[in-house]
Amino acid sequence: MRVLKFGGTSVANAPQFMSVANIVENNANKEKQVAIVLSAPAKITNYLVTMIDTVIAKQDVLPIINNAKQIFSDLILGLAQAHPNIAEQSLNDLLAQEFTQLTQSLHEISLLGHCPADINATIISRGEKLSIAIMAALLQAKNFEVTVIDPVENLLAQGDYLESTVDVAASTLRISAKNIPTTHIILMAGFIAGNDQNELVLLGRNGSDYSAAVLAACLQADCCEIWTDVDGVYTCDPQVVPDAKLLKSLSYQEAMELSYFGAKVLHPSTISPISQFKIPCLIKNTSNPQAPGTLISDKKNDDDNYLVKGITNLNHVAMISVSGPGMKGMVGMAARVFSTMSRSGISVVLITQSSSEYSISFCVPQQQLSLVLAALEQEFVPEQREGLLDVLNVIKDLAIISVIGDGMRAQCGISARFFSALAHANINIIAIAQGSSERSISAVIDNRMATTGVRVCHQILFNTNQIIEVFIIGIGGVGSTLIEQIHRQKNWLKQKHIDLRVCGIANSKTMLTHADGIPLTHWREQLRLSQEKYNLHHFRDLAKKNHLLNPIIVDCTSSEEIAEQYVDLLKEGFHVVTPNKKANTASMDYYNQLRITATQSRRKFLYDTNVGAGLPVIENLQNLLNAGDKLVRFSGILSGSLSFIFGKLDEGMTLSDATAEAKKLGYTEPDPRDDLSGMDVARKLLIIAREVGFKLELNDIKLTSVLPAEFDTSGDIATFMRRLPSVDEIFSKKIKKAGEENKVLRYVGKIEENGDCTVGIEEIDSHDPLNKIKNGENALTFYSRYYQPLPLVLRGYGAGNEVTAAGIFADILRTLSWKQGN
Ligand code: ADP
Ligand code: ASP
Ligand code: MG
Repeated sequence: MRVLKFGGTSVANAPQFMSVANIVENNANKEKQVAIVLSAPAKITNYLVTMIDTVIAKQDVLPIINNAKQIFSDLILGLAQAHPNIAEQSLNDLLAQEFTQLTQSLHEISLLGHCPADINATIISRGEKLSIAIMAALLQAKNFEVTVIDPVENLLAQGDYLESTVDVAASTLRISAKNIPTTHIILMAGFIAGNDQNELVLLGRNGSDYSAAVLAACLQADCCEIWTDVDGVYTCDPQVVPDAKLLKSLSYQEAMELSYFGAKVLHPSTISPISQFKIPCLIKNTSNPQAPGTLISDKKNDDDNYLVKGITNLNHVAMISVSGPGMKGMVGMAARVFSTMSRSGISVVLITQSSSEYSISFCVPQQQLSLVLAALEQEFVPEQREGLLDVLNVIKDLAIISVIGDGMRAQCGISARFFSALAHANINIIAIAQGSSERSISAVIDNRMATTGVRVCHQILFNTNQIIEVFIIGIGGVGSTLIEQIHRQKNWLKQKHIDLRVCGIANSKTMLTHADGIPLTHWREQLRLSQEKYNLHHFRDLAKKNHLLNPIIVDCTSSEEIAEQYVDLLKEGFHVVTPNKKANTASMDYYNQLRITATQSRRKFLYDTNVGAGLPVIENLQNLLNAGDKLVRFSGILSGSLSFIFGKLDEGMTLSDATAEAKKLGYTEPDPRDDLSGMDVARKLLIIAREVGFKLELNDIKLTSVLPAEFDTSGDIATFMRRLPSVDEIFSKKIKKAGEENKVLRYVGKIEENGDCTVGIEEIDSHDPLNKIKNGENALTFYSRYYQPLPLVLRGYGAGNEVTAAGIFADILRTLSWKQGN
C-alpha cells in the first residue's frame, strides 16, 4: 500500500490532472493498493481566502468568483476532450452547485460583516472537494474502481476550525471499519478533517501533506509519497537560491526541523504520524517522475555527505521580551509565560533566555501578536502593578533563519560560519537559539533581510563556487579590455571555483544588465542595441532585487561624479574597484569617509591601478607599512606618456616632435596638455603620500608643469600643438646642460621624509634607478627603514589597456578574501 499526495501545483489544470492519473495508474498496476490525497488546484485556496476578505471589505467579489470557477470549467472541459466517457455533466452540475452555495455563504458573510471560523473553513476547503470529485471521475473513465473517503467523517481531529490535529488511533479505527475493497483506488481530499461534532475543520494552510501522512499511518502504508513541483527537498528553497542542492535523503528529525522552520515543501506536522510508524516518505516531482526524489526515513543517511542539510527562513514573526527586576530568581516565570501561550493556542516558534534570568524572549507568528499581548497582559496584571515586570517589549517584522542537519552535532565551527555569513551581508542578529537536539541553530533577523540571509548562508555553507557579480562603468580602452580579459578567463576561473559574472556594462549613455551575468560573446553589439538608459541606480536596484552577494562596481571612467558615489555604493553593499583617481584625490575628509564606510560595511575599496597601472604598488606599500616599515623618501616616474617623451629627448628629439609622436602612438591623453600639465602625476603622488600616512590635499603638492609657466596653453589641440615648437629651444638647452654632467631630464614626483611633495622636471644622474626609465615605463623608488641604502624599485609599464585591466582584474579577485578560511 502506498499513499500518494499531489499538491496544488500538480493538479493546476487538465494536462496535469492527466499526468497525475498516469502516475496513479502506474502505481496501481504495481502495488497491491494505492490511496490518493489531493490538494485544490493551484491558486484556488488563495482565491477562496480572498473572496472572504473581499466581501468583508465590501468590495466586488464577482471577478474573483469567476476566475476561480473558470479554472474548474477549463479543467473539466480539458479532461472531457481527452476522455469523452468522463461524467462531464455531473461534474459541471457539482461545480454549479458548489459555486451557488459558495456565493450564498459569501452573501451571508457580507451581511454579518465578519466570517465565523466554521464557515471560513467550509469555504476554503471547497477546492479540495472538487479536486477529488474530478479525479474520481477521471479514474472511473479509465475503468478504475474508486472509494472516496470523506475526511470529515473519518479523520477525527482536535483543535480549532482552521488548524486542527488528527487523532491517528481513532481515525484508524474508523477507516478500517469501512473495509475498502483492495481492488479500489482510495481517494481523499487533503487539508480537511472533522471534529467530535462531525463538523468540518482544517489542518492549516498547506495541510494536505499532513492529511497524506495521517492517511498513510491509518492505512499502515509502506510508503507515503508527496508529489510536488520540485525534484525533492533541497538545501534551500530552489526558488530563492537557484543553486540549491537536491538532497538524496533526510532523517525524520531533519525533515521535521526543516519544515518547522519554514521549508514550504512539507507541512510541519507531516513527519510526526509517519515517523511514529516508521513509514518512509518520498518527495517526488509530478513533472519529472523519473527523478529519484528525496527519501525521508529513519535510516542512517549520509548519502549526501553534508553536515548541514538545509537552510530555511520563517518570515513574519514578532519577538516579545518579558523582563523586569522581579524576574531574577522568580520560580516558574518561564512556565507561566509558556502555559499562557499554550492556553491561548499560540505556537511559540523560538525561545531565548538571557543568562542573568532577567528576561525571556520568544518569537510568535506576527498575525498572532495581538492575541499574545492580550494573554500576557492579563496573566501578569499583579506583577506589572507591583513593578516586578516591565512593559512587554515587542519587535515586529522579523524572520528566523535556521541551519539544520544531524551532522552538526559532532562538528564545531558551523555556527561560527553561519554567523559570519550573516555578518558579511551586514545582517544584524537580534537573537539566537540552538535546538536542544543540536540539530538546528536559528538566528532572528530583520524580515527584509531574510532572502539575502538565506542566500549568503547557502553560499558559505554549501557552495564551492564563489560568485562575483561585476558591474563595469566606462568601456573605453581599459573597460573593454577588462571585459575581454574576463571573457577569456572565465573557464580558467571556473576551474578554480570562481564564478565571475559581468552583470552590468555601462557607458555614459546606455547600459546592459543581467542578474545572472551577461553572455560576453557579443556584448558590444548588445550594448549598442540596448534601450536601457545609463543610470547608476539601475545597478543598485538590480543588486538589491536579486540579493546579489558579492556585487562589485568597477569604475573605469575618470568621472568625479561617479567617484562621489562610492561611499553610498559601499553602504549599499557593493565593493568598489577602480583605476579612477578622483576619489582618492578628493578632500581628505572624503578620503577618510571612504575607508571608514568600507570597514563598517565590510566591503572593499580597491584602487591598486590608481598608481603604476598593473604594477603592484598600493598593496606592496600597505604590506610594508603593516610590517613596520617607514618611508624615508620616494621618487618616481609616474606617467607613461612623460616617460616616453623624456626618453625621446635623450635621443635628441625635440619636445614638440616627441609629444607629437607620443600622441600619434596613443601614449598621451587625447589632449596632451593633460599629461604635460603634470596634474596626473600630482594626483598619483598624492595617493602614495596619503597611503603612507600624510594628511595632504591636492593643492599641497608643489607642482611645476612640463611647460614653462609663461607658455600659452590656450586654444584647441591643433593650435596648441602648432605653438609647442616654441619651447623646443629651452628644452634642448636644459638637456645639453644636464648632459654635460652626465645626467638626463626626467619628470619626477618626490615625497620627502617630512611629507613635502613636489612634481617637476629633475636632472637625474646615471646611478639613479630613474635614469634609464623611458619608452613609457614607470619606476617607483621607495627608500625606507627596511629598504636602504638601496631602494625598493618597482618598474614596468605604468599604462596601457592590458596591464591596467589586468591590475583591475586582480583587485576584483581580491574582494573574495572574505570567503577564505570557510
Ligand atoms: P504543493 O503545491 O505541491 O504542496 P508547495 O508550493 O506547497 O507545493 O511546496 C513546494 C515548494 O516548496 C517548492 O516549489 C519550493 O519553492 C518550496 N520550497 C521551500 N523550501 C524548499 C526546500 N528546502 N526544498 C524544496 N522545495 C522547497
Ligand atoms: N489547498 C490548501 C492550501 O493551499 C492545502 C494544501 O495545498 O496543502 O493551503
Ligand atoms: Mg504544499
